[in-house]
Amino acid sequence: MEIHLAHTQGFCAGVASAIEVVNRALAKYGTPLYVRHHIVHNTAVIKDFEDQGVVFIEELSEVPEGGRVIFSAHGVSPTIYEEAKSRQLIYIDATCPLVMKVHREATSFSAKNIQTVLIGHRGHQELVGTSGYVSPDLLHVVETEEDIDRLELDTTIPTGYLTQTTLSVTDTARLIEKLKDKFPGIVGPPKSDICFATQNRQDAVTELANQCDVIIICGSRHSSNSNRLKETAEKTGNPSYLIDSVEEFDPEWIRGKEKVGISSGASVPEYIVQTLVSAITAIYPDTTVYRKDSVEKDIRFTVPKV
Ligand code: SF4
Repeated sequence: MEIHLAHTQGFCAGVASAIEVVNRALAKYGTPLYVRHHIVHNTAVIKDFEDQGVVFIEELSEVPEGGRVIFSAHGVSPTIYEEAKSRQLIYIDATCPLVMKVHREATSFSAKNIQTVLIGHRGHQELVGTSGYVSPDLLHVVETEEDIDRLELDTTIPTGYLTQTTLSVTDTARLIEKLKDKFPGIVGPPKSDICFATQNRQDAVTELANQCDVIIICGSRHSSNSNRLKETAEKTGNPSYLIDSVEEFDPEWIRGKEKVGISSGASVPEYIVQTLVSAITAIYPDTTVYRKDSVEKDIRFTVPKV
C-alpha cells in the first residue's frame, strides 16, 4: 500500500491567522470570549475552542453589553460592525484579508452603480457577509447555471461579477463563461476572487487523483472548500470520500487499492490527517507514505492585533 499526501493541504494562511487570533485572545483575556459564527468551518477546531470556554454565537445580541467578540474568517457585513459599535462591544476582526479584498470590490462596484452578480453558495457565511457590501437594489446572487438562465438584469447600467473565495475553480469558470455569453459587457474583478489557497488545494488534489486509486478528503460537511476538494477528485473518475474524523473512515474504501490519496480542507488541523494515516498503516503495516513540499510553506498573513 502507498499513501500519497496532497502536497498542499490543511490550514491556509487565512485560517492559521484566524485561529491564532482566538488563541491570543484566550491567552490575553481569558473567558468569556465570544466568537461570531464558527471561526473556521471545522468540527474539531470548534470543539477544541469550546472545551477552552469559547462561546460561538450567531447573533451579536447574544454577547453581553461591553463584551468581547471575534468575527470569523468568513467576514461580516457592514451592519455587523455598526451593531457591535452601537452595543459597545469590543470586537476583533479575524476576517481573512482575501475575503476583505472581495468586500472592497463589492463596495467599489456599488459606488460606481455597477449591478453585481455574486457567484457563491446561498446562505454560506462568506456570501452573506459580502452581500452586505453590495447595494441591495444592485445585488444578484447566482449559484448554478439555471440561476444564470433565469437571471434578468438592467441593461441600461453596467454589470460586474464577483465570487466567493472557496468555489470550484472549474465550475466557476463555466459559470463566468455563461455570464459573459449572456451579458457580453460584464466585468470581473482585476484578479480572480477564488483565493490562492483554494486554487492550490484543488490543483494538488487533481494531481493526486491522477496518480491514486482512491481519494480521502479530511474536512467537515459544512466546509465549502473541503466539499470542493472531494468534487474535484471525483471529476477524475476516482472514488472520493469526505470524512470529518478518522471514526468515519471505512477500511472497505481502500481494500484492494494500491495507492490511497489523502488531502484536507483549508480549515483542517494536521493531526486529523495524521490520525487517518496511522489508521491505514495499522491495517497495512508495509505502507509507504509520500509527501512533497507545500507550495504555500512560506506564506503567512499578519495576525490582527488582539
Ligand atoms: S480559504 Fe482563502 S479566503 Fe478562506 S481563509 Fe483561506 S486564504 Fe482566506
